[in-house]
Amino acid sequence: MGRLSRRALLLGSGAIVGWLSAKAFAPTLADLTGTRSLQHEPAAGTLNDASFLSETPVSAHVIVTEDPGEVLVDILRSEMREAASEGRSVNIGAARHSMGGQAIPRGGRALTLQSSFIEVDSAARTYRVQAGVRWHQVIAALDPLGLSPKVMQSNNDFGVAATFCVNAHGWPAPLGPMGSTVRSFEMLLPTGDHVTCSRDENPDLFTRTMGGYGLTGLITEMVVDAAPNANLVPTFTEMPAVDFAAGLATALAKPDLNMVYGRLNVDRARFFEDALLIDYVPDDDQEEISEASTSGPLSKISRHIFRGQLGRERIKRARWWVETALGPKVGGGVVTRNSLINEPVVTLDDRDPARTDILHEYFVAPDRFGEFLTLCQTVIPASYQELLNVTLRYVASDTESWLSYAPQPRIAAVMLFSQEMTARAEADMARMTRALIDGIIAIGGTYYLPYRPHATVGQLRRGYPRAVEFAVEKRAQDPAGRLRNNLWDSYLRHL
Ligand SMILES: Cc1cc2nc3c(=O)[nH]c(=O)nc-3n(C[C@H](O)[C@H](O)[C@H](O)COP(=O)(O)OP(=O)(O)OC[C@H]3O[C@@H](n4cnc5c(N)ncnc54)[C@H](O)[C@@H]3O)c2cc1C
Repeated sequence: MGRLSRRALLLGSGAIVGWLSAKAFAPTLADLTGTRSLQHEPAAGTLNDASFLSETPVSAHVIVTEDPGEVLVDILRSEMREAASEGRSVNIGAARHSMGGQAIPRGGRALTLQSSFIEVDSAARTYRVQAGVRWHQVIAALDPLGLSPKVMQSNNDFGVAATFCVNAHGWPAPLGPMGSTVRSFEMLLPTGDHVTCSRDENPDLFTRTMGGYGLTGLITEMVVDAAPNANLVPTFTEMPAVDFAAGLATALAKPDLNMVYGRLNVDRARFFEDALLIDYVPDDDQEEISEASTSGPLSKISRHIFRGQLGRERIKRARWWVETALGPKVGGGVVTRNSLINEPVVTLDDRDPARTDILHEYFVAPDRFGEFLTLCQTVIPASYQELLNVTLRYVASDTESWLSYAPQPRIAAVMLFSQEMTARAEADMARMTRALIDGIIAIGGTYYLPYRPHATVGQLRRGYPRAVEFAVEKRAQDPAGRLRNNLWDSYLRHL
């Protein structure tokens, strides 16, 4: 009898959907990342992530679909035991949209949690989820109850625990990262103990796990805050990019501000010279709130324009016009909060096997935003990279997580590059990334950790002042190094 059926018999049907070799897993990876064709699938015995540049050998990939409870904990405990007996590492991933192997254990047992378990407590405005639940599932559960995720990323594909483990931010305002909305979670430690963590119980573990990239334990379930859903109405304001921080401050001063984001013009003739700020406040009419939709009209129209920008300055200019002139007309009406955040990554997929989308993100104090613009104007056009989009966000300060990227309030700049899948492009991207990181650290900011591992170890140390302390504590709590991924192997291990 194969291993899968043995386990399924032991643990009940659906306990483990598959104990799969990486080869057997390949078609599912495309589903998980939701963005690619078969040409990007990993070779046998390997796992990749959304960058398609992280192919890493793993000994097994196990998908666990059990709902929260003792059986789930037992499955993970036995995975941990099995890894220990083989002298291997373990790591859980969700959508594996991190782009540098942060959710892949080299040579180890890769676990993926999936479930539809969501229990909403409307009165407390909280919900309890299995750790692998995705945001589109959360939105589907909260929407009929008039609730909405309080903070999540701009796309709905990601896992809830994964979001906590990178401590992602979104555009709900004026809020900090998603960790600030987590009440508690349950986690299996490398010792085999299953513990509850909150701001009152195991608070140290709570804050180390927030943005701790799965290096502290395996999260099994979480309790997270919800916010009211609402009809929102946008205001679009175009301005010189150097005025963006002031424009953002004006938006943040609105007492009923609900969501806010910005964009920068990436047309080379006006590179980072123009900005657009879009803020959302509740509409006067909250009588009827329609069901959450996905991919608003503008995002559907804009896929072709978005991808057409590649190497074409004329299309980049046209896109800026669409965003600043057409956007307010087509996308300027009332929209629900849930519809705004219910956007899958696939909407803007490039469908080009010769290229891959690579994200960068930098965090800068609002009063140094002008220097950030100059940095980007100096570094990016001098590279071979194609920058297709910049989205700006506000992130309130996070003084809890050990690897905080926003110790004070920050403007976040999310950049989407289309990179050629060649060694030359990869080398150029690495060089450009290091230049941007040096520049952002020099102006008191930092870079985001879930993307390509191009930073140097020294840059990580300077960008994340508590990283050494994090690594010391990790070694103390997990001396055998059972929980590992590429963030540990390439960076934190060296501190
Ligand atoms: C198109 C796109 C848009 C994005 N937009 C935003 C944005 O708006 N804001 C933002 O902040 N970030 C954004 N990101 C980054 C994104 O938040 C991270 O890449 C995040 O990791 C994605 O979630 P995931 O489910 O893919 O996580 P994965 O890559 O699968 O995992 C991330 C980390 O969490 C750990 N982990 C996952 N589950 C568990 C668990 N149960 N227990 C312990 N550890 C666990 C993994 O080991 C890994 O270290 C974006 C990324 C992409 C590709």
